[in-house]
Amino acid sequence: MNKRFGIDIDGTVTCPSTFVPYINQSFGMNITLDDIKQFDLLPLLGISSNELRAWMNEFEPIIYKDAPLAKHAKKVLDEWKNQHTLIYISARGNHLSEVTKSWFETNTLHFHEIDLIGSHDKLNAVKKHGVELFLEDKHDNACNISEECEIPVILFNTPYNQEPIPKGVIRVNDWNEASKWVNYWFDSTKKV
Ligand SMILES: [Mg+2]
Repeated sequence: MNKRFGIDIDGTVTCPSTFVPYINQSFGMNITLDDIKQFDLLPLLGISSNELRAWMNEFEPIIYKDAPLAKHAKKVLDEWKNQHTLIYISARGNHLSEVTKSWFETNTLHFHEIDLIGSHDKLNAVKKHGVELFLEDKHDNACNISEECEIPVILFNTPYNQEPIPKGVIRVNDWNEASKWVNYWFDSTKKV
């Protein structure tokens, strides 16, 4: 039996440092990914939420168009695509659907479905799509999905998600580690 995987896009399939050069250029900063200690960028940038929203509106399509892939992501997703159903569930707004789909095409990355929900609250989408395992980089999302939906959640290690995690969340350093855990988990579900 194949499994239904829910996969976040930004910072999970794309490299978590994708935003860094754009932040440095726009805000005259000189940060690296290590300086992003929390998911909320406001304290780091020292701007208002309205200013951040305006900046995101302008830059999201530009940033997403050329976003680099996370290390080993494509290799692993290419291995999974024929065996499992890959459903991308992202907080991006639906107005970014075209740029998102063409990014997948440019990177020859297969998807069964892309759901841009326009909000960080992914619980309903996870339930609606019958997701059995989720892959994420946002700490509270990972914990909430794992606890509410009672499914394992792979959390990709970044400087901005270092808080403690519950039992159902599996912290990994990269897609190779994710692949090892997921393949082992998949084999063990077949034996039950
Ligand atoms: Mg993300």
